[in-house]
Amino acid sequence: MLHSHDHAAFADSLLLWFSQHQRPLPWRRDYTPYQVWISEIMLQQTQMERGVEYFLRWMDRLPDIAAVADADEETVLKLWEGLGYYSRVRNLHRAARIIVREHAGEFPGRLEHIRALPGIGDYTAAAIASIAFRQDVACVDANVERVLARVCDIDTPVKQKENMAFVRATAQALLPPGKAREFNQAMMELGALVCSKKARCEDCPVRRWCEAHHLGIVHERPVPAARKPVSHIDVATGVLVHQGRIFIQKRPDHGVWAGFWEFPGGCVEPGETPERTVEREFMEEMEFPVEHAGKITVIHHGYTTYRVTLHCFFLRLRSGTSPAPVLHAATDHRWVRFGELTDYTLPAGHRKLADMLATDLRLPALLDG
Ligand code: SF4
Repeated sequence: MLHSHDHAAFADSLLLWFSQHQRPLPWRRDYTPYQVWISEIMLQQTQMERGVEYFLRWMDRLPDIAAVADADEETVLKLWEGLGYYSRVRNLHRAARIIVREHAGEFPGRLEHIRALPGIGDYTAAAIASIAFRQDVACVDANVERVLARVCDIDTPVKQKENMAFVRATAQALLPPGKAREFNQAMMELGALVCSKKARCEDCPVRRWCEAHHLGIVHERPVPAARKPVSHIDVATGVLVHQGRIFIQKRPDHGVWAGFWEFPGGCVEPGETPERTVEREFMEEMEFPVEHAGKITVIHHGYTTYRVTLHCFFLRLRSGTSPAPVLHAATDHRWVRFGELTDYTLPAGHRKLADMLATDLRLPALLDG
């Protein structure tokens, strides 16, 4: 049981463990506000190893806030491609421009100024304020929620409002003044490395204060929230080939996958076959009459609240059709060589399709034809 008189010993034990076991991550070298900010945004919904790879590539290309502010949208989207949740990078881009304009290019150090930047919620503001600026504010992510749900044996879903308030208050009460940078990272690192889904309690530095461990019910904590139903949609898309090139178009600047390039297509309507869907979509979106040149594949791709089944086809223009489209659902178009597809930012399902095309033996013949 964790009493208030145990708080100092809990923190000491955790900090000692962190000093010995923390991972050597690139933003932990200097803790510059810019690097801490980028790492925090990048690591949301992203595995650490993958996040580090993207982080290093990003820093190589955009080493400071001014470079982000100066970069065009295509550049930042391309550096983010594959990480998903693209509103994060758009907000980050906007925030960099605000920092240059309103804070003379210096990342603001006050919590309320950090929180006011686009794309920065309570958690990220607390993480930057504590890790980069050493302010005594606790941060609570999913790792900290899991650790404290176990240590304090929270027996209802931890995401419930009153439980979240309790978790935040407990994290703040445990935080030793002046040690926020180390303590917050230590709590999150403990959740990531030891108190993970499958906890390794034998290696845990705070085991003696952990109620779920004493009760032998670690696997029952945290209590999960009821799951939202996941919906499913069928989408059909076409790789239109003409005179050695492939057609792509650029999505509008608003809505899903805004500003991305794509192979055209759309949702399969009730009673419609996917083959018919692509014919209809190509006519509606570009006024292109097309004919089928073979089914490529079916790609399944899952998002947080829905799953997509993407039916993919090779297409040709009907003979005598002009290759100049009349765009109704896009802001731009290109006829690209296959190798040039890597230069464009594609939604995840379309990137999978482009990767598959590389090994499809029918493509060279279609491009030659
Ligand atoms: S003892 Fe086990 S369940 Fe408790 S905090 Fe440590 S790793 Fe997590």
